Amino acid sequence: MSAAENFRAIKAELGDKIILVAVTKNHGVELMREAIDAGATDIGENRVQEAAEKFPTLNRQVTRHLIGHLQTNKVKPAVKLFDLIQSVDSEHLAAAIDKASSSIGKIQDVLIQVNAAREPQKSGVMLEDLERLINFVDSAKNLRLRGLMMIAPNLPDVEDCRPLFRQMRKLFDELKVSREAFDYLSMGMTHDYKVAVEEGANVVRIGTAIFGERTYT
Ligand SMILES: *Cc1c(COP(=O)(O)O)cnc(C)c1O
Repeated sequence: MSAAENFRAIKAELGDKIILVAVTKNHGVELMREAIDAGATDIGENRVQEAAEKFPTLNRQVTRHLIGHLQTNKVKPAVKLFDLIQSVDSEHLAAAIDKASSSIGKIQDVLIQVNAAREPQKSGVMLEDLERLINFVDSAKNLRLRGLMMIAPNLPDVEDCRPLFRQMRKLFDELKVSREAFDYLSMGMTHDYKVAVEEGANVVRIGTAIFGERTYT
């Protein structure tokens, strides 16, 4: 099946209430356009440099998500390129994004990435540090906190991720009570999005199931 067909099938399965972010990292602009022309409204990239090369030649209106770890030295181009930065995980990074956004007169939408499974090799704030980071982001004039993001561990049985997704949804609901525009719970990728959606994800980030396996050269 083509990327367009794959996209349409997953979109039909998810319906209109869930934002399907087509993850286009490591794929060329042609394939990105194919997905957008098939109805993709949201695309995700994990590297600033790659996005900076591809976005200017895209010639399509689309909401652009940064889903990968962001280094502070890439923050300036990132705030110019992305509508939503999903990977805020430290005060240091949040402060840099705030400053760069302020300098171009932008209010930057962000998600806080949570390392819910406490995986040492993964980015994301630990749960015990989340409240502090939320307070920091809330106080930053040029940041608007839109929700939470989580990357589940890659377990052989996706059912084993279900409790983690459920825990994140509970946390999201608790935080949502007292805040405006806190709308997005981003979790679920190709191998686990069905379970993530069953447990309350409203943003999923899908690459492989749309575009096939990525080849890295
Ligand atoms: C690559 C990536 C995805 C998409 O992964 P697939 O398994 O190809 O669907 C989702 N989220 C993040 C943060 C990624 O880096």
